[in-house]
Amino acid sequence: MSWGYERSKCPPSDWEKQFPVANGKRQSPIDILTGDVRVDKKLRPINLAWKNESASEIFCNGHSVQVTFKPGSTLTGAHLSSEYELLQFHIHWGSDIGQGAEHFINGESGDAEIHFVHWNKGKYASPEEAMKHGDGLAVVGAVIHERDDVEDSQCPGKYLTSFFPKVFEMGKKYPISKDMELQQLLPQDKNFFCYEGSLTTPPLLECVMWILLKQPLYLSPSTMTTLRSLPCLHGGNLSNNYRPPQPTKNRMVRSNNSNL
Ligand SMILES: [Zn+2]
Repeated sequence: MSWGYERSKCPPSDWEKQFPVANGKRQSPIDILTGDVRVDKKLRPINLAWKNESASEIFCNGHSVQVTFKPGSTLTGAHLSSEYELLQFHIHWGSDIGQGAEHFINGESGDAEIHFVHWNKGKYASPEEAMKHGDGLAVVGAVIHERDDVEDSQCPGKYLTSFFPKVFEMGKKYPISKDMELQQLLPQDKNFFCYEGSLTTPPLLECVMWILLKQPLYLSPSTMTTLRSLPCLHGGNLSNNYRPPQPTKNRMVRSNNSNL
């Protein structure tokens, strides 16, 4: 049976039936309690050497909207010990304000969350091989909040939706022919939390070095409405495509600074 979210026959609470690692030691997302975060001055700043011309295709896979990349955009720093290369980014979101982010901070959710997925090119031969290892992938994420006072012209989400086709057909891949200014899709402040976790979608492999930016990204209500109108694998519109926080199980969350 194909997995899905709340309205599907296999919602997140049932994923463990097909993917027992759902109850593993390092599952994601988590609720980050800032009082328990260890400030580690040895963590390096994150270095996003992303190439705007590397965006390749955009498509709806029924679980999210995703943009894929050609080789050449890299990530180093934080708790990573080698060079990672950008594969894709995608977004999780809710049907209403107050839900939609995957990572919580001090028990609070956001309205959406963006994930930039990289693989450990410095150490492994392929993304498939990398995903068999605990340091195989690195995801840079940012929580998103919907805000009435974000003007469309200033809205990172409006910039993103300018790359959308007029009508998204499920599964159809639309080539991206112009540069995508990737830094517009993350907050300027790159201070972060980091920890060791998993994919937040099946097969939930415990292969992800997580980097969650501390600052949120703000999107306009009209952009959020656009996201909420995208097609769902199980019919209708896609929303609430997020996994709730999982037990932290004694894992250490670190940060490069003490600012909240
Ligand atoms: Zn994700």
